[in-house]
Amino acid sequence: MSEKIHLTAFTKDELAEFVQNIGEPKYRAKQIFKGLHERRLPSFDEMTDLPKNLREKLNEAAQVSTLTVESRYVSVDGTRRFLMKTHDNLPVETVFIPTESRDTICFSSQSGCPLKCDFCLTAKLGLLRNLTAGEIVEQIIIVLNDVYGIGAETPHGTNLVGMGAGEPFLNFENLIKALSIMSEEDGLFIVPNRVTISTAGIVPKIYEFAKLEKRPHLAISLSAPNDELRDKLMPINKRWNIEELFAAAKDFERSLRKGERFTFEYVLLGGVNDTDEHARSLADLLNKHGLTRVKINLIAHNSAEPLEYRPSSREQIERFKKILESKGVDAYLRTPRGRDIYAACGQLAAKSEPNLIQIGR
Ligand code: SF4
Repeated sequence: MSEKIHLTAFTKDELAEFVQNIGEPKYRAKQIFKGLHERRLPSFDEMTDLPKNLREKLNEAAQVSTLTVESRYVSVDGTRRFLMKTHDNLPVETVFIPTESRDTICFSSQSGCPLKCDFCLTAKLGLLRNLTAGEIVEQIIIVLNDVYGIGAETPHGTNLVGMGAGEPFLNFENLIKALSIMSEEDGLFIVPNRVTISTAGIVPKIYEFAKLEKRPHLAISLSAPNDELRDKLMPINKRWNIEELFAAAKDFERSLRKGERFTFEYVLLGGVNDTDEHARSLADLLNKHGLTRVKINLIAHNSAEPLEYRPSSREQIERFKKILESKGVDAYLRTPRGRDIYAACGQLAAKSEPNLIQIGR
C-alpha cells in the first residue's frame, strides 16, 4: 500500500490546503493543478515552473500517478483498450474510441463489479474495490497522453462515458468528485455536458443524480421489457424493479435541460430479449409511463466466452428497431467498437491475451 498522497485526487481547494500544510504559499496549488491536469505531466520533476526545493518536498510526500499500464491493445477499427493495474494490483480497464469528429473515452468506476448482469464478462470478476477519484481521473490522463503525447492538445475535444467496468452509482462520491476535478477550465476541461454516466438501475442514486447542479447525461441499462426477464438478466431488478426504475426515470426526465434527452440502453441477446413481442412490450412500457424525452440505444451483444448468449441477427435487430419506431419510440443502433480486442460493451474482464495485437510503447 502506497503511503504517499495521490495529488491527482485533490480538488483545487484540497490542493490549496495541502500546499499550505507543507509551508508553501497558496498560489503554488494553482501551478501544481495545472501541471497535473492541463499539462498532464507524469512527475513533479517535470513541473519546472516550481522551485527545486518544492519539487523535492512534493516527491517526498506525494505522488502524481498510482496506475500502471500493463498492456494496450489496438483494434482494427482504431479502438484502444488499456489494461492497467492499481498500486494494490487490481485491474482497471479503459477504452479509447476514436471517430472522425470526436474521441470518446470509456472509463471504469470500480475494479470488477458487484452486480451480476448475466450477459457481462466484468460480472465474473465480482467487486474487487471502488476506484478512488484520483484513479478515475488518472485513467483519462493516461489515455490522452498515450494517444496524443504528454500534455498535447486533443484535436476534437473528449467525450467521456462511465460505461467501463463497475456500477458508477455504487461509487457515487468518488465519481462526482472525479468529474468535478476533470471539469476545471485550467485542467482537463471536460465539462459535464460531454459526459454520460450509465447505471444498471441504482434507483436512489438516479434521484440524487437528477438534483446535481452540474449534471452529466444519464443512460440507464434496461435490457428487458418485463420484471421476469430483467430479474434473470440483471439481478439488480430484484432490488429495484421496473416500476421503481421508471418512477426514477420519470423524475429524472423532469430535470432535463432544454434540448436534452436521456437514454435507455438495451443489449440485444439472440432469442432471449430480441423478439418482435419484446420490442412491442418495450415500446408499450415506455409509452405507458409517458416518457417522451428518451431514446433507446440498441446494442448488439458482444459474444465472449464463457458467456453463452449469442448476438441477435442483423435482420432481427432491424426489425426490433422498426417496431419501436412504429410505436413512436426513437431507437438507435450503437455500432460495436473494439470487439476483436475485448474492448466492446460487456467484454471488459481484464482479458490479457498474447494473441491480441499489443501496441508498442
Ligand atoms: S453490465 Fe455493468 S453493472 Fe452489469 S455487471 Fe457488467 S459492469 Fe456491472
